[in-house]
Amino acid sequence: MRLIALALAFLALPAQAQFNLNINRMIDSVKNVGKATQEIDQKQEIEIGQDMAARLLGAAPLVDNPRLQRYVNDVGRWLASQTERPDLPWRFGVLDAPQLNAFAVPGGTIFLTRGLVAGMKSEAELAGVLAHEIAHVVKKHHLKAIQKNAQASLAGDALTLALNRSSSDSRDKLIAFGTEMYSRGLDKSDELDADRLGVVLAARGGYDAYGLPAVLQTLQAMNPEDSSLALMFKTHPAPGERLEALGEKMQPTLDAHAGQPQLAERFKQFLTAK
Ligand SMILES: [Zn+2]
Repeated sequence: MRLIALALAFLALPAQAQFNLNINRMIDSVKNVGKATQEIDQKQEIEIGQDMAARLLGAAPLVDNPRLQRYVNDVGRWLASQTERPDLPWRFGVLDAPQLNAFAVPGGTIFLTRGLVAGMKSEAELAGVLAHEIAHVVKKHHLKAIQKNAQASLAGDALTLALNRSSSDSRDKLIAFGTEMYSRGLDKSDELDADRLGVVLAARGGYDAYGLPAVLQTLQAMNPEDSSLALMFKTHPAPGERLEALGEKMQPTLDAHAGQPQLAERFKQFLTAK
C-alpha cells in the first residue's frame, strides 16, 4: 500500500503530451515490417508501437480528463516497473470510446476504453486489466503476431483508412482494423498466458489478485449480444473460459494474494472527478 502511494507520487507525468501523431511514419513502419525477415529490435518495436498508438488515437482520442489519465499511467507504470522490461517507454491511455476493450501496442503503449473503465469497481480491477495488457507487451505477443502476419496489403488498407479517418464510420473501422491487426494473430494460449502473468503482476504490485477475475465476471454477466462487447469478445476468449483457466492454474496465487488492497474508494475518486 505504501509502495503504491510512493510510486504514484513519483510517476506523475502528463499522459496526454506523450503521444505523437505521425501517420506517415506509421505507414512506413508497417511497410517495413511487411518486408522484414529479420528480428524486430527493441528500438524498432518502440517506434512501430508509437506510430500505431498515434494511429489509434486518431481514431478515438483520449478521454479529456488529465487527472484520470495520470492516475491510469501511475498504476500502469507501477506495475510495469516490476516486470522484466521496466525500461520500455510505458504509457497508458483511456480512449474516449463507449465500447468495452483493452489492447496493448508493441513497445509499451496500452489503451483501455472509457466503457471498460466505467464498469470497474476498484483500483485492483484496473490493475488486473492493465497487468494483462502489460503481460502481452512483456511477452511480445502482438509484436510476434505482426511479424508473422504482416503482408504488403496491410500498408494499402492502412493508408486508405488513414486518409478517410475524418468520417465517423471510418473511425469505427480504424479502431477495428488497429485492434484486429495485433489481435488476429494472437493464439488463445497467448491470452490465457497474459491472464496468468497479469494475476502475478497485479499481486506483485500489491493488489488483491482477484482484480482481473472480477472484471472477467463483470463481462461474463453482461449480455454477450451487446454490441459494445463485440470487439472484446472477438479478440479475447470468452470470460467464462478465461475464469476457468485461471481457476485451474492460478488458484493458489489468487488465494495467497486475495487479502491485498482493492482501493475501491481511490478508484472512484479518480473515475468521477476531473
Ligand atoms: Zn489480451
